[in-house]
Amino acid sequence: MKKQLYERPLIQRINTGLMNKFGTKTEYAPTSHIDGFAVKDLIKEFGSPVFVLSEQTIRNTYREAVRAFKTRYPRVQFAWSYKTNYINAVCNIFHQEGSWAEVVSGFEYQKAINNGVPGHNIIFNGPDKTDEDLRAAITNNSPIHIDHLDELYRLTELAEEMNKRPNVAIRVNMDTGIYPMWDRFGFNYENGQAWDAINKIMLGERLELIGVHCHIGTFMLSPQAYATAAFKLSDLALGIKKKYNKTLQYIDMGGGFASKNTLKGSYLPGTDTVPTIDQFAEAITTAILNAGFIEKDLPLLILETGRALIDEAGYLLGSVIANKRLSDGRRASIMDFGVNILFTAFWYDHKISPAQEFSSYTEDTVMYGPLCMNIDVVRSNVTLPPLKKDDHVVVHTVGAYNMTQWMQFIAMRPSVVLLGIDGKAHLIRSKEGLENIEMNEVMPEFLKNHQLSVANAK
Ligand SMILES: *Cc1c(COP(=O)(O)O)cnc(C)c1O
Repeated sequence: MKKQLYERPLIQRINTGLMNKFGTKTEYAPTSHIDGFAVKDLIKEFGSPVFVLSEQTIRNTYREAVRAFKTRYPRVQFAWSYKTNYINAVCNIFHQEGSWAEVVSGFEYQKAINNGVPGHNIIFNGPDKTDEDLRAAITNNSPIHIDHLDELYRLTELAEEMNKRPNVAIRVNMDTGIYPMWDRFGFNYENGQAWDAINKIMLGERLELIGVHCHIGTFMLSPQAYATAAFKLSDLALGIKKKYNKTLQYIDMGGGFASKNTLKGSYLPGTDTVPTIDQFAEAITTAILNAGFIEKDLPLLILETGRALIDEAGYLLGSVIANKRLSDGRRASIMDFGVNILFTAFWYDHKISPAQEFSSYTEDTVMYGPLCMNIDVVRSNVTLPPLKKDDHVVVHTVGAYNMTQWMQFIAMRPSVVLLGIDGKAHLIRSKEGLENIEMNEVMPEFLKNHQLSVANAK
């Protein structure tokens, strides 16, 4: 008879909230403080809900990313993706750290100028650049990343009209093994569109081709996809050198590295599954270094990393408005924040921690926001200890995209506070009031008075 496998006996206290089909108990300790600031005090001073950002985490994350690339490649430049979080204080932290600006709209471009970024350090991306935007970018010598042929033709006309030679790169899309492919932006590598654009620029002699650019997706979990993209952009740069004897200044790999958030439907938390910045850096730099550039032609490597540099630095602090039982007996908590200010709740299972002491008892809970609409679900199932009315919670990893995609529906946008390395909590955007919402409204004269109609109705 085959010997049975021996297993050590195990005695374990029965605990509610252990592994179930929704995952494990999520919280073991309250998040009562962030960077030494008490959550309770922050809410008392700035109201609930409130976004807070850790200056220390922003700077640490940025420096770690720079180190990951600079230790592997000689020439590296980051450009802060404004649309990921364009509160000016946030942008200026990145600029202080040495980051350029990367913008995708005219107003973001103006923000970067107003923040004091030199024109030649503002990368202008995106499919919608107006004549006015293009003129400003041409005047300031900003790198303009061309998205489509209509833009290329218009830019050529403006260059002629202004008698200037704009600095341009082309945005390239490509098959990196990740589907669906992001092929709506830029020129395709495989089908020859990219070379068509390059030839038109080089033979047109009106535009100065200085780089090639891609942005292959967002929340990318595959370093290999970046290796493929870096190889294909290098191939274009080497081809341009060969055909036109022209050395490009840079290869811009765009953004898209995943932050440590957990995508909905994934079993393991993002902190365990997301590749590190070193893995992305290794994939990209190895591909470029192996592509065949001679040393003096090695292009500057630009990264437009957004979410991976800011997501972890952001927290949303909020409070419980009410608890109730749903018709099927499930527990539901209604919070004072919802998808209006936490847009990323649509695709992430954000980690949520109580901010005060709790018992070991946990229960699966549906967490709703305050909006009068059914889709306002912050977490469709989260295993939490019971929360009382007015208890506080901390939502983690919310620094990317929420403070730009928030919408004004029923509720006002809350304050945003920077937890400074100077030990002070700095208000960097005050909460909105009725005046902000009505600021742009205009009342026609004939509608200003409705006393009569009220009287008539009686
Ligand atoms: C949005 C965007 C980025 C930043 O993307 P992340 O996913 O936040 O890193 C960079 N480059 C371009 C062109 C973008 O559109």
